[in-house]
Amino acid sequence: MRNYYIAANWKMHMTVSEAVALAQDLVAKLGKSKERVMIAPPFTALAAVAQVIRGSSLVLGAQNMGPETKGAHTGEISPLMLKDLGVKAVILGHSERRHSYLETDELINRKVLLALEQELQPILCVGETLAEREAGKLEAVVGGQVREGLKGVSAAALATVTIAYEPVWAIGTGKTATPEDADAVHGYIRIVLTSLYGEAAAKAMVIQYGGSVKADNAAELMAKPNIDGALVGGASLKAETFVPIVSFR
Ligand code: PEP
Repeated sequence: MRNYYIAANWKMHMTVSEAVALAQDLVAKLGKSKERVMIAPPFTALAAVAQVIRGSSLVLGAQNMGPETKGAHTGEISPLMLKDLGVKAVILGHSERRHSYLETDELINRKVLLALEQELQPILCVGETLAEREAGKLEAVVGGQVREGLKGVSAAALATVTIAYEPVWAIGTGKTATPEDADAVHGYIRIVLTSLYGEAAAKAMVIQYGGSVKADNAAELMAKPNIDGALVGGASLKAETFVPIVSFR
């Protein structure tokens, strides 16, 4: 039976004390979960949350990182700083970074390569907007983001990369792709990965679905053969909505 990888993206929510309280609740309820669970608090709460989850099975993640290790980059956070706090995984190319902060595939690829070099496990987010989907560009957009995001990533390094398929129109909107729709896109991502790395690597790749995942749709989504986990935004902000997603089976 496969293990699922479920990641919580707390986005720009929570003070340090709120983050600590939620992390304590999650350790109590999920600290021994058989699923792989990652939580990504805001940067300001990473150090405090790291203390709380130490010794549990929960993994500390970051929501983004800068494309350099150090230097004159005002406002950026280096992968070295993240590692120093115990961060193991990093979300890259989230649609909010792509669309609100105009991050390009080229920049996201630099971050992916740097994360791998620094032994951080990237979650590379990809996904189409509603306009792109309606214009029949879903495969071109998602396929392009996968190819560009993974440019220069070796087959050996790929094993530590996760892809999150997050249709932009489903993030924070309450609209979810149907499990069949999501599974079909995940299947397409595996076709792209097969063309890049071969069938075995493509099959082994962990592909999360993200976009209004909730307790009542998690089981149906995760039952699909190509869906290996979830990246959860809104529903990850409270233990009472996140725990049932992780405990979907
Ligand atoms: C996300 O931010 O990655 C996300 C999927 O958000 P939500 O679950 O709120 O749609």
